[in-house]
Amino acid sequence: MIGFPRRIWPEVRAGTGFGALLYPVMVFGVGIVVNLLLQAITGRSVSSPRQLPAHLSAAGVAISIAYGVVIAPVHEELFFRGILFRSLADRYGFATGALLAGTAMNSLGTLPPGNLSLERDADVPVAPGGRERGYPKPDNERVFDKLSSVYLSGNRTRDDAPSHIRVDRKVRREVAEAWRHMCPAQVYELAGEASPAGNVVDVEVTASNCIQCGAISAKGGRLTPPEGGDGPEYSLM
Ligand code: SF4
Repeated sequence: MIGFPRRIWPEVRAGTGFGALLYPVMVFGVGIVVNLLLQAITGRSVSSPRQLPAHLSAAGVAISIAYGVVIAPVHEELFFRGILFRSLADRYGFATGALLAGTAMNSLGTLPPGNLSLERDADVPVAPGGRERGYPKPDNERVFDKLSSVYLSGNRTRDDAPSHIRVDRKVRREVAEAWRHMCPAQVYELAGEASPAGNVVDVEVTASNCIQCGAISAKGGRLTPPEGGDGPEYSLM
């Protein structure tokens, strides 16, 4: 989508030619139809935004042309096709995603009206990918295990401090494993490792290891300030 083609000039010629043909079609064909549609739907007259001030310096004109010809299309490509279309296609499938993203782009965000409903992060099923198997094993010279890393950070949280982590202690094994992988400080341990996916396992929480990175809040946990606002104490910093 974005990148340098091997034969650049044929691409430039084709892009310029089709662009020159497409421009009047979009402005006088699609533009007029969309304008009439928007007026009918919203009941308001739609006027073109004033894109540029009346008096621009030569540098201002050059920057505006560069923005219109290069930056705006890249921005549009990144946002509408890179972010919006992908997230809609993931959620509703390719055809519906393409229709919704295309409608949103061509109506400048007016359609579809309202806000799309989103599910909470915690409600999205966890899909274990097994990537951890590719991680290098700790050798405690260049790669350190989590507990050694917490020790080396100089974290001095009291072991008897009340736990500030609000998580369910009985969850499905996939969720418990996600917490264990996400947490950089080995706060979560699983009981019943051998139980199959879908089974509920006990989660042991060692809150004093926590370095308050907040990662757990992405998947159902809640981090509260320990002891009314205290935090990890780093003796090396
Ligand atoms: S905040 Fe970070 S370090 Fe603390 S328990 Fe959550 S993931 Fe682990």
